[in-house]
Amino acid sequence: MLNNDGTPKKILIVGGGTAGWMAANLLACKWRNTEICLVESKEIGIIGVGEGSTPHLKLFFDAIDVADSQWMPRCNATYKNGITFDKWSTNAGFESYFHPFAAQTDDIFTVPLFYKNIQARMQGYNVNAHPDNYFLESYLSRNNLGPLPAESFPFGVAYGYHFDSARLGQFLAEKAENLGVKRIYGNVDDALIKNDGDLSAVKLKDGTLLEADFFIDCSGFNSLLMKKTLKVNYKSFKDNLFNDSAVVIPSELSQILPVETKATALSNGWAWQIPLRNRFGNGYVYSRDYIDLNQAETELRQHLGLLDSDVEARHLKMKVGRIEKHWHKNCLAVGLSQGFIEPLEATALGLSFNTISQFMQCFVESKGTNKFEDAFNNDINSKFDGIRDYIVCHYKVNQRNDSEYWRNNAANNNISDNLNKILTLWNNSQDFAGDMYKYKLTGSYKPKSWACLLAGYVVLPKQNMDQSIDYSAHQQEVDGLSDFIRRCGLNFKNHRELLTL
Ligand SMILES: Cc1cc2nc3c(=O)[nH]c(=O)nc-3n(C[C@H](O)[C@H](O)[C@H](O)COP(=O)(O)OP(=O)(O)OC[C@H]3O[C@@H](n4cnc5c(N)ncnc54)[C@H](O)[C@@H]3O)c2cc1C
Repeated sequence: MLNNDGTPKKILIVGGGTAGWMAANLLACKWRNTEICLVESKEIGIIGVGEGSTPHLKLFFDAIDVADSQWMPRCNATYKNGITFDKWSTNAGFESYFHPFAAQTDDIFTVPLFYKNIQARMQGYNVNAHPDNYFLESYLSRNNLGPLPAESFPFGVAYGYHFDSARLGQFLAEKAENLGVKRIYGNVDDALIKNDGDLSAVKLKDGTLLEADFFIDCSGFNSLLMKKTLKVNYKSFKDNLFNDSAVVIPSELSQILPVETKATALSNGWAWQIPLRNRFGNGYVYSRDYIDLNQAETELRQHLGLLDSDVEARHLKMKVGRIEKHWHKNCLAVGLSQGFIEPLEATALGLSFNTISQFMQCFVESKGTNKFEDAFNNDINSKFDGIRDYIVCHYKVNQRNDSEYWRNNAANNNISDNLNKILTLWNNSQDFAGDMYKYKLTGSYKPKSWACLLAGYVVLPKQNMDQSIDYSAHQQEVDGLSDFIRRCGLNFKNHRELLTL
């Protein structure tokens, strides 16, 4: 049943993890005529990881009208300028590179010179094509400067966050309840389907029936409504993303509070380091086909200098892939119930935000019908697949040779047509960025991100060591840009100082 404005009269959200409470807040803020209930299980709990974001989380908080100062202190949150990838390449000078978020200085000043020098480097010229030299956000990160400039600085800088996921859930739950969302505790045992295939109610273990006009499945990897009840197909990404497990260990914060996530390649996967206000969150994402749970824990402890520590480790399994339809019948899946790629670029909450907000728009525009269901599903699928391709590329072009895991990743030719096209353009095009737009390959990541990744791992021809070529003009331009970026940096505050404002 629908309200006069085309919104459902009653929505039931199943699951109270970050995805469930994000959905509850967005719906409660925008669909004021809809009664919203959320059921969650105290016994099952939440996954309790997922502590880094992309700039999409800022868009989410803007959409529900919550300022940084309202939620960040409560969630021990810090700012994030991007991600450093450490030890994914063994090429001298390229052992580490930074993947920055976007800044308005990019397109006007910095990216054109980056592309120009990549092109020169492609022709063998011995010019500087390391991405860390070209972006304001890389400079901010190197110098522990937060992403909020002085008011007089005319260029915007996009940013993400690091946060305590349990606290974020509590904050969002409180806010949603204040907006009128009804919170119910119970274990969902079953879901009932009507003759037309729509869901009519979920049944709790104690026999209670919870009816609704529309259902949001936020039940995590269980995917209770979408996969288990409505039997929507699932597409695994295991063929090109090998990792299926993680081990998580917190550690003490350092004196300096980084403004970035660090993703360090280890023997059979990679470790994240996420700075919160009170601790580092750390985890090792790996594949059980190559290393077992105990070896992974020991290696992470070694990496963190915690071999003799009795800090407890948490072990998690991950399902990597996505369902084929995110909106089906009168149900929408959001969060881990719709799929998960792997946390290398911290994209999951951004995908959740896109899923809910795009669905709300489609639903209202179609006046409560399923008219835009196919277009919506195609779009969300292409977002998932685009992010998957970018993450697969990190593994495909890794420059390590120290284990079967890394060698098999590099040798894996099970990659999508789009990724193949992007790699072909990188190696052959005279205008990589222009051609990416021309061939519509920019859905999830812009050419700048691809160029950072590929130049960052030095997927470039060998330098021409011919000393008779004069590189001084190139170097002067790079020096000029460095000076411009340094002067831009004068408008930004130290990260810790920014957090105490
Ligand atoms: C190792 C790892 C690292 C990650 N890192 C990042 C990151 O850096 N950035 C990022 O954006 N994302 C990350 N993610 C993903 C992120 O954790 C999730 O997207 C996010 O926490 C949302 O999860 P969720 O709400 O979908 O699921 P959950 O947190 O699992 O919540 C599921 C909810 O459903 C309820 N439920 C389940 N079954 C039932 C039932 N039968 N009855 C009643 N209730 C039920 C549970 O109790 C819970 O409330 C990571 C994930 C993993 C595995």
